[in-house]
Amino acid sequence: MQEPVQDCLFCKIAAGEVPAHILHEDAHVMAFLDLHPIREGHALVIPKQHVIWFEDLPEPLATRVTTVAQRIARAMKRLYSVERVSMFYTGIHVPHAHAHVVPMYHVHDVTSQVYMTEGADSYATPPRLAPERMQEIASGLRAAL
Ligand SMILES: [Zn+2]
Repeated sequence: MQEPVQDCLFCKIAAGEVPAHILHEDAHVMAFLDLHPIREGHALVIPKQHVIWFEDLPEPLATRVTTVAQRIARAMKRLYSVERVSMFYTGIHVPHAHAHVVPMYHVHDVTSQVYMTEGADSYATPPRLAPERMQEIASGLRAAL
């Protein structure tokens, strides 16, 4: 098993060295809220093991990440009354494999039509939510899992 990487934010979160709004934790996987949610509840599921690319995850670990994402998605459907929840790996921002799990209120929540038509200049990082709101969202999701 690969050792944690010193300057990796997600290795630090997995080790409990950096706080996060944790939704799920087991021996191999952790799930927590994204700090810049596309939609409230936007969660990340990571392997605790430092693996940069999702395609390099050992199959049991990739399966475990997906299983936790499925559980979160079912909770999101109940909590937020959305028809669909997306799950995707982008491989950007933090070089430690992480699956995004996002409740979809609109089909363009993930594939922004604005971005597609207006280009990269129109892109802005989604704003952070107030800490109290993040606590409420995390509590609601944890209780629903
Ligand atoms: Zn890492």
